[in-house]
Parts: sequence; structure tokens; C-alpha cells
Amino acid sequence: MLKNDLKGKNSKLIREALHKTQFREQSESLFLTSGFVYQTAEQAEAIFKGDETGFQYTRYANPTIDTFEKRMAVIDGSESCFATASGMAAVFASLMCQLQAGNHVVSATALFGSCREVIKNIITRYGIEVSFVDGKNIESWKKEIKSNTKIFFFETPSNPCFELVDIEAVCKLAKANNIKVIVDNILVSPVLQSPSKFGTDIIVYSGTKHIDGQGRTMGGAILCSTKFREEILKPFLRHTGPCISPFNAWVLSKGLETIHLRVVEQSKNAEKIVKFLAEHNKVESVNYPFRKSHPQYELAQKQQKMGGNVLSFYIKGNKKKTFNFINKLKMIDICNNLGDTKSLVVHPATTTHRILTDEERNDQNIFDNLVRLSVGLEDFEDIKNDLDQALIAI
Ligand SMILES: *Cc1c(COP(=O)(O)O)cnc(C)c1O
Repeated sequence: MLKNDLKGKNSKLIREALHKTQFREQSESLFLTSGFVYQTAEQAEAIFKGDETGFQYTRYANPTIDTFEKRMAVIDGSESCFATASGMAAVFASLMCQLQAGNHVVSATALFGSCREVIKNIITRYGIEVSFVDGKNIESWKKEIKSNTKIFFFETPSNPCFELVDIEAVCKLAKANNIKVIVDNILVSPVLQSPSKFGTDIIVYSGTKHIDGQGRTMGGAILCSTKFREEILKPFLRHTGPCISPFNAWVLSKGLETIHLRVVEQSKNAEKIVKFLAEHNKVESVNYPFRKSHPQYELAQKQQKMGGNVLSFYIKGNKKKTFNFINKLKMIDICNNLGDTKSLVVHPATTTHRILTDEERNDQNIFDNLVRLSVGLEDFEDIKNDLDQALIAI
């Protein structure tokens, strides 16, 4: 069967863009090489000039990385992808490849700690203006638009409190004002939400999270149109060099083969854990977009296929009690990764969101009694029992 005959996304994630060698290997080959050899000086000249296509140097492109990029584009229905060394390299490059001094960026306030640091304190060093808005409120986006506004940036749902941004409404507003929309779609994964369907221009991913999903490698990806990739993104990334290692790209391609199964099963586990925690007498409340009590439940239903495997909850008590709970866990690891097969907890206020000011944390409901839980693939009963014994013990 020709690969073009494949209709289903899962088939493509498993079989697209294979670069087979003469050895007829069955698995994806791993091209662990920094450079590629030219047969003649004339060929090197032709490839550098662009008259002939061919791999040159892994900082520019590599067959194993190409396989990962083509499959990432498939998973989201985007035209094109460029892989990066980490999710943060993707976030930074997606901004800097198109910004210059005098431009203005509008960003939602509720962001992952490092994204907020990049937008608030790093890009502003280069003469780029930034405004933060309440991402939930379309009027607040509208109010901040100026003649030099170039980019809207947000994540939905937000980490760790699950505020949603109405992707379609924000994209419509952006289009009408010639503004590009970058969305960080990491928290629920590409399996459960396809932002390009609602009109986004650029989507950034951390391969480290659900794409690997087994705690092994770092990686990132930027999804966009082919025109944007070729004209703006590629020149920037080729010369600044935050490229992914071919080995990591190979691991991530293997992750894509099972991502659908993993994320759906993890999310089913999470839905049951949400119900269990919401009814627990040591728990004040739970943040999860697919709970009926979530203030943006209807929007979540429109944008996401499921609620996702990550949730957060408030313990009844102070920081000490919350730390007690975390320390009493026997199976669940304390780790700031997410989307992993292993269930993981983290205390956002003192780790992932430590860099925010007290006021910023309060604005985002990141209190000392908040715990984030990434539900894994262990059996539901084991996850539940571990949470239960630790809650009872505090
Ligand atoms: C983890 C994460 C990132 C950064 O990804 P890395 O691969 O760790 O660099 C960015 N945004 C969100 C929402 C994340 O969860």
C-alpha cells in the first residue's frame, strides 16, 4: 500500500515519512550523525545554493528529525512543523523569529512559569512591548490592541488552574487586526485539542510531556504553515541552533505511535480521580475543565475532546498540611513533568510557579494548598488508594 493511501491519523503517526535505508530495517532508522557527505564539491555547492535538495547538517535538518516533524504536523492537521530541543526553545523561537524592537505582544496572564518569564522579562529586554490580559475575557484582548501589536500568545487550558481561552473568538479578533496567534497546546496534548481548527497560526508543543510520555527525553515542536516555516522560522532556527537531537526525535516518534492510546486512557483515569477527590472530605475543591461546575465547562466541551490527564486541587489546610499530603504519597512521584505514564504530583506555588510574585500567584489562584496531579497509566484503584491514604494521614 502506498503511504498516500493512509486515511487515518493513527496510521499516519505510525507509518508516515519513513526514511528506509538499503538494509530494509523495519523500525524507523536512527540517523545519529551531525553531518552528511557530498559526493562532489559541485554537489555541495548545488545543495547549499538550493538547486539540489539533500541533507547537509543536523542543525538544519536530519532524516530522523524529518520523520518526527512530518508526524507532528499530521497529529494536529497543520501544514508544517519544525522540531526543537525543548518546549521552551519552541516557545522562544516562535516569538523571536518574527518579532523586532518596537513590536507589541499581548499575552494571557495565566501561563506556565517559564513562558511568563520569557514574555515578561526576556523579550522585553529587546525593545518589545508586552501587555498581559485576562485570557478568559475577550474584551480585555480587544482593549490592548495597538497599531504595533504583532502577536497574541496564550495557553488553554492554563497550567495549573485550568482557565480557558476561547480560541475561535481570540483568533477572529486577531485576524481582523492582522495579528498572529501563538498557542501553547501542551497541557491537554495534541490528541485532545486541535487549535488550528479554530484559526490559530502557530502551535507550540513540548515533546517532553505527552509526546514522549515516558519520562525519557526533552524535545519541542513548532507547528505552522509551510510558508511561515520556510520564510521565517527555518532561517531563524538554522542559524540560532536550538535543534533537537536525532536520538530524542527518534524517541518522540516512537511516542507518537502510542500517544492516542496513552492520553485517552490517562484521561479516563483522571475523570475518575476528579470525582473521587471532589467528594473527599480533606479536599476543598478540584480544578478540571470537564467538571460541570467549571465556569467554562461549555467552552471546554467545544474545544477539547476530553478533560485531559492533568488536574489540580486544593487541600483543606495550609502549606504544611499540603506538604504533609505530598510527603505521605507512596506510589505517586513528586515531579514537575506531566503527561507521563507514571502519576506525578507537584506543588506549583513553590516549584513550577515559584518565579511569579505573590500577587501574580494570588491572581491566578495558585495558593499554598494547591496540588497539581498528572494522572498516569497505573490502575485507577492504586492511584486512588495512594491519594486516599495520604489525604487521611494529613
Ligand atoms: C512543560 C511546559 C512547557 C515547556 O516545555 P519543556 O519541554 O519543559 O521546555 C511550556 N508550556 C507548558 C504549558 C508546559 O507544561
